[in-house]
Amino acid sequence: MTFSLAIVGRPNVGKSTLFNRLVGKRLALVDDQPGVTRDLREGEAKLGDLRFTVIDTAGLEDANDDSLQGRMRRLTERAVDMADVCLFMIDARTGVTPTDELFADILRKRADHVILVANKAEGSAADAGVLEAYALGLGEPLRFSAEHGEGIPDLYGTLQPLADSYAERAAQEAPETDVTLPDDEDVDGETVPDGPPQPTEERPLQIAVVGRPNAGKSTLVNKILGHDRLLTGPEAGITRDAISVRAEWGGVPMRIFDTAGMRKKAKVQDKVEKLSVSDGLRAVKFAEVVVVLLDAAIPFEQQDLRIADLAEREGRAVVVAVNKWDIEDSKQEKLRDLKEAFDRLLPQLRGAPLVTISARTGRGLDRLQDAVMKAWDVWNRRVSTGQLNRWLEGMVASHPPPAPQGRRIKLRYMTQAKTRPPGFVVMCSHPDKMPDSYTRYLVNGLREAFDMPGTPIRLWMRGQG
Ligand code: GDP
Ligand code: GDP
Repeated sequence: MTFSLAIVGRPNVGKSTLFNRLVGKRLALVDDQPGVTRDLREGEAKLGDLRFTVIDTAGLEDANDDSLQGRMRRLTERAVDMADVCLFMIDARTGVTPTDELFADILRKRADHVILVANKAEGSAADAGVLEAYALGLGEPLRFSAEHGEGIPDLYGTLQPLADSYAERAAQEAPETDVTLPDDEDVDGETVPDGPPQPTEERPLQIAVVGRPNAGKSTLVNKILGHDRLLTGPEAGITRDAISVRAEWGGVPMRIFDTAGMRKKAKVQDKVEKLSVSDGLRAVKFAEVVVVLLDAAIPFEQQDLRIADLAEREGRAVVVAVNKWDIEDSKQEKLRDLKEAFDRLLPQLRGAPLVTISARTGRGLDRLQDAVMKAWDVWNRRVSTGQLNRWLEGMVASHPPPAPQGRRIKLRYMTQAKTRPPGFVVMCSHPDKMPDSYTRYLVNGLREAFDMPGTPIRLWMRGQG
């Protein structure tokens, strides 16, 4: 199973050079396939043992219209939407230009995973440009030379865990074709025979505590364990490995993954405290519930947002915990601000619980445990087909789907195809024409109707064969 990588960036930074290096002669021109834009080149890339699709947005400099900027933007947006991962390239010799900033903006808003590549970085003439690239807010730039092949091992190292996670996700996703109703369901009834799952000693609930260095992750895990198993300290940069520990929290068997070891990387970069994609992924992939731990004094930093977003995209249940609440003065006001910031910055986690705690004193830990259990429950939730279809009827009645080219899209029925996180399939006519806005309407509706706040919800539109 593979993923797709889009190479984006302004003209002349070296996109084609990299594209050619990755694709070699295995170029598959997709120009005449319907629905594929002519401006995007696609090829099958080979990098070590990785195989993936690479999409190149180069060739724009040939455009002889004066709206190059606009075309570039549109093309980039399309490539970003098509691809699982974006490789954003800048020219380290030139440094960051206003056009680069424009691209960075698009990527920050739209892209799932971004790998920032500072190209033409062979030799020391590029040092300043590489440093400048940090300011784009897209994480650590990969020092690279497409022409000379420098940085290729780092690129491999960055892509490899992503490739794993896409392979895993693809395996879990709903079936591509025929959807049959799950056997364990009474189509009309409200009951599900097996009942909700429970964590056991053999299969403990898996949680990861993630957050920026010094947020208090180790302190929290120690508190849960009830003793000082892990080392905590005030100075960022203590080297510890990420470890998982068994715990009984509120009587529930759990396995907790502490990501404090991630700070090792942050130390190397000094001021730029960054969570590398692979570290974040490792923790998030492990977990069923991800606790995003924020420091009340510096909440919702870029790094926090990225990891929360990553967790959502990986389909994990998310609980946000705001730590060091003991030293917060104006709690009421602060809480209001936090909630407002949460809704604004992480709309994809609508309704996810936000719990204030003090890892040091232990205050709020009961509520955190409740929230974790609730999130896990929702994540495992199964809604009966009968309920779903009655609900769907109501949704369609109050807001019918659109009618592209005068032909209304018909929603036939829906069923839940999977749990962990909940995934639903809607059988309909013209699934390809269904606008995202309608899908969002249904997802948000599901959340409310079946009390599934915070958990990622997947919804697939399928045509009927
Ligand atoms: P694109 O427009 O982004 O696709 O850029 P190209 O791949 O066409 O490269 C633009 C120019 O930069 C070409 O002259 C390349 O030879 C040169 N170039 C590409 N990669 C490197 C590199 O790593 N180092 C240097 N010095 N030049 C490079
Ligand atoms: P980590 O890097 O996320 O693992 O953070 P640590 O657990 O090492 O904590 C970093 C610093 O924050 C330490 O000095 C802790 O004592 C302090 N700290 C952690 N939790 C709290 C809390 O709830 N309140 C206060 N005031 N300080 C805390």
